[in-house]
Amino acid sequence: METTFSLTDLDDPEVQHANDILRKCVHCGFCTATCPTYVLLGDELDSPRGRIFLIKEMLQKEGAPGPKVVKHIDRCLSCLSCVTTCPSGVNYMHLIDRARKHIEHTFRRPFSHRILRWCLTTVLPNHKLFSLMVRIANIARPISLVLPRNLSRLWKLIPQTQTKSDDRPPIAIPAYKLNPERTVALLPGCVQRVLAPNIDAATSRVLARHNCQTKIIGGSGCCGALSYHMGKTNQAIEYARANIDAWHRELKAGHIESIVTNTSGCGTMIKDYGHIFRHDPSWAEKSALVSRHCLDVSQLLSSLQISPTMAPPPTVTYHSACSLQHGQKLHDEPKALLQKCGYNVVDVPEGHLCCGSAGTYNILQPKIADQLLKRKLTNIAKTESDIVAAGNIGCITQLQSGSDRPVVHTVELLDWATGGPKPAGVPD
Ligand code: SF4
Ligand code: SF4
Repeated sequence: METTFSLTDLDDPEVQHANDILRKCVHCGFCTATCPTYVLLGDELDSPRGRIFLIKEMLQKEGAPGPKVVKHIDRCLSCLSCVTTCPSGVNYMHLIDRARKHIEHTFRRPFSHRILRWCLTTVLPNHKLFSLMVRIANIARPISLVLPRNLSRLWKLIPQTQTKSDDRPPIAIPAYKLNPERTVALLPGCVQRVLAPNIDAATSRVLARHNCQTKIIGGSGCCGALSYHMGKTNQAIEYARANIDAWHRELKAGHIESIVTNTSGCGTMIKDYGHIFRHDPSWAEKSALVSRHCLDVSQLLSSLQISPTMAPPPTVTYHSACSLQHGQKLHDEPKALLQKCGYNVVDVPEGHLCCGSAGTYNILQPKIADQLLKRKLTNIAKTESDIVAAGNIGCITQLQSGSDRPVVHTVELLDWATGGPKPAGVPD
């Protein structure tokens, strides 16, 4: 695609990078067929190709974009299906992140939108605040019926039974493994530790059973993805720096061999730290080291000798989270692990399409998110399985809000098959 940035503009490495991405797009349109918003809405401006054009115009003009441009960019799920499809290697992820940052810095959103966005980026990354909010939300659940759609949607996503933060299972080595051969850092995260602490517990157990100890490193926390994908770059950078400092220190000292994530949206972000800090002399090397040592839990488990101890378990529909299949290019590994543990694994038809969760998308764009959820649940129903498995808390929460069968994390099924407890909600 032709671009017209001035030579002065191109002195800025961020503009140069956007220019390089834009110039790779040959406007072939292959990506439109696999873009969820284009499939639903049929508008070229809601396709990757249309958005790339809008982003080019917006960045070249430099000033605040118009509301129409913001509307179409906001409707992008950042699902990265277009990145998988594109034959020209257009890095849409870095381009849309750049566009969101530009919008955040130049465009004034309506007051109610600003408040909602502030709440999301203040409460969700802080597990203590989020835990408090969940308790209040559960007490005040009846008022959700009279709230606007995006707020009532938020209520729908919050589980009705909430564990107290103190109930969080300790991330410790089970007593039967006193001399682990390997030690890895587990991302403590933010939303997942409040909504589903059982996922970290299952991760810790299944790894310990295979001679690998998990540790939470002091100072690590939210990965920053939620803020980053809403254009609040400075806030995201603060979260990322805290993690990089904590993990880099432990990696250098040889106390951990990798950083393991069981929330694929976070894993995609951590694997991108090296790119985000590449122009910062104080952080470039440290962040690149952290990114190189970040593994999704399915990658780590694939390197261990995992084997089942239970009788042939049920049929599982595997929902491939966008951040895992498109963001980290990990689609076969989780399925292979489930199969190795004896599960009969079935793919979801139209598996490349997002379920509508996409970070905070289901709160900010509830209408499109609901349509995508309905489509996903219809496709899941065709598989006639007993259980749905996914590798990302966002997808799990979204699917649970409408599914008539249990939706669990892949690692909970692997833990169960190798001697752990049956995941909550799975029938006998
Ligand atoms: S498939 Fe790639 S090159 Fe073709 S229009 Fe989409 S982004 Fe551009
Ligand atoms: S990231 Fe997803 S929603 Fe956004 S343009 Fe690409 S395919 Fe479409």
